[in-house]
Amino acid sequence: MIPKLDEDAILKRVSQELRRTHELTDEQKLTLSRVFEKRLPPALGIIEARNVTSYHFKPSDRTLWIVKGRRGDYQVMPDSMFCTCDDYYFRVMDNKKQLCYHLVAQQIAEALGRFETSEIADSRYAEMTAKWSAHVSSRRS
Ligand SMILES: [Zn+2]
Repeated sequence: MIPKLDEDAILKRVSQELRRTHELTDEQKLTLSRVFEKRLPPALGIIEARNVTSYHFKPSDRTLWIVKGRRGDYQVMPDSMFCTCDDYYFRVMDNKKQLCYHLVAQQIAEALGRFETSEIADSRYAEMTAKWSAHVSSRRS
């Protein structure tokens, strides 16, 4: 039996290649599908539909990544590989160490440069983050 590969490491490695090539090859798709299995098609679908958006706040230069998934919009934090969806919450918090397909989509979309960008005033930062973190904090209570 093949040992379970580290999802994080594989995703980072492929993303690094994509930053140079800006093209997802069949071989890379195969590598990713071995690791992410059923999570890869929805992730690729999100990228295809341009459902990854980078909100760039001015003048602070803060960035917020939002991924529109099948059941709603989620905030993804690539630095900490965190996502506000239920899938992430239950899998990653249970130490199953599985990344949700929103994170997979965000990482690949960013590397490929296939995402929407939107500039937004800093004054709306609190409102935007509150919107996407609301259901996370309500579940923890
Ligand atoms: Zn997610």
